[in-house]
Amino acid sequence: MGNRKIKYIFVTGGVLSSVGKGIVTASTGLLLKLMGYSVGAIKIDPYINVDAGTMNPFMHGEVFVTEDGGETDLDLGHYERFLDVNLSKKHNITTGQIYKTVIDKERRGNYLGQTVQVIPHVTNEIKSRIREVAIETGVDIMLVEIGGTVGDIEGLPFLEAARQMMIEERPENTFFVHVALAPILSATGEQKTKPVQHSVYELRRIGILPNAIIVRTPRPLEEEARRKIALYSSLSENAVFSNHDLETIYEVPLLLKKQGYHILVAKKLDLAYKEPELNEWEDFVKKVKNPKMKINIAMIGKYTRLKDSYMSIIEALKHAGAYLGIGPNMIWIEATDIEEGRIDIKDILSNVSGAIILPGFGKRGAEGKISAIRYLRENNIPVLGICYGLQLMVIEFARNVSNLKEANSTEINPTTPYPVIDLLPEQKTVRTLGGTMRLGARPLHLVPGTTIYKLYGKARVIYERHRHRYEVNPRYVDRLVENGLVVSAWSNEGLVEAIELLPKDHTFYLATQAHPEFKSRPLQPSPVYIGFLKAAASLF
Ligand code: GLN
Repeated sequence: MGNRKIKYIFVTGGVLSSVGKGIVTASTGLLLKLMGYSVGAIKIDPYINVDAGTMNPFMHGEVFVTEDGGETDLDLGHYERFLDVNLSKKHNITTGQIYKTVIDKERRGNYLGQTVQVIPHVTNEIKSRIREVAIETGVDIMLVEIGGTVGDIEGLPFLEAARQMMIEERPENTFFVHVALAPILSATGEQKTKPVQHSVYELRRIGILPNAIIVRTPRPLEEEARRKIALYSSLSENAVFSNHDLETIYEVPLLLKKQGYHILVAKKLDLAYKEPELNEWEDFVKKVKNPKMKINIAMIGKYTRLKDSYMSIIEALKHAGAYLGIGPNMIWIEATDIEEGRIDIKDILSNVSGAIILPGFGKRGAEGKISAIRYLRENNIPVLGICYGLQLMVIEFARNVSNLKEANSTEINPTTPYPVIDLLPEQKTVRTLGGTMRLGARPLHLVPGTTIYKLYGKARVIYERHRHRYEVNPRYVDRLVENGLVVSAWSNEGLVEAIELLPKDHTFYLATQAHPEFKSRPLQPSPVYIGFLKAAASLF
């Protein structure tokens, strides 16, 4: 890009949150990447938490873990999956981080003599963070998604910072995309544009004129609606795009491309145009939409009311499914329903081809999951355990196979006589909760001959991302192994990283302490998820 000036694309949202800004951001990035540019993406979360790590999954969905151990917003997961890049914790900026830095600077005397204010001190800090990440990572184009909706009090300093960047970076180096909802009235079936118009007015009041509007709507945007939105937003009609409901989120880049969205972005940002090569992506989308077979997979967890809590696992299953020609039909099982007798394990698990024991924290639902694990183990149903899933599988094995009847995790019962799962040694002195778990990518040393070793193409060392405080207690490993549990991966420090059963004992019984789903990509599915689905579909 001749004279290298970084281009910034800001994505704002209107009317409602969860309107699909994350997918639009990721799709914009993919199209530009396939035009030959290096692209990064930042998510701004205007809440006061420093990161997403301390938030309840019910409120905020999954905490996405980056290579460097950031506990970030789940949109970073979309960015990584669409762009096929590894982002860092710096790609998720929150109000908490900004204010913390500004206040620390004030205490150090960096602003000596001044009154510290939102404008310019907070806005300057926001701008310098965005620029710093863009410069450090050397990208041609940095996407910046501003979370929440236009008009939220918390979002204002970020929008103001974006507005200032438009002036400072020059208009030809910035692009503003506004994503807003046009609902359909159920009584009349009409597509209503007023909410979109109002959110554009709100944006204009702040001083931002969007360069493109992407309209989320249940069915394709009608011409009349497009015309109205364009007129009221002072845009030409070809800058208003339809982002209607699709079968899969992975179709969004294709839909936007079909409407020439990438051409508009390239023109405004003065980028040399090159037709994005989307053949592989299209092929992947086709496979997601037309599986050769469908199988039922039980998803056993305790945040099942909000499926977003397990976003990366759901996507990892789709990636592996597309690769194998399998459509995973996810059957959500709330572990507390098992625990409290509202559902019968046998009834619900007898018609699934496999089950995932989902990650989690705390006591609620744990016994329900343990009973399900026993049923899956004894009935030879393929099972994959992730993080807490591994820990509960070890507890079940200790109780029912190794004869340690009251075995438990000290997370669930601190006075258990057999603490087969216990706090990591390094966690024993940790007193604060934010960002203090064992986090991020760490090596797993795979044991030759095991299932996991074969799944990873006989690699001796692989890296997966972690997020946990507890581990298999080394004192019990021998006892478990004597009874037939296989430890198939170890950490550098000799901690258990993966367990499995021998093929003669079970068709597929595997669990990892790490979360391989965080590194699964549409065109590079996670080996563990491929192995699990293959076994569930009896393709082994
Ligand atoms: N609660 C468990 C721990 O802290 C598992 C965490 C998880 O599943 N991510 O070790």
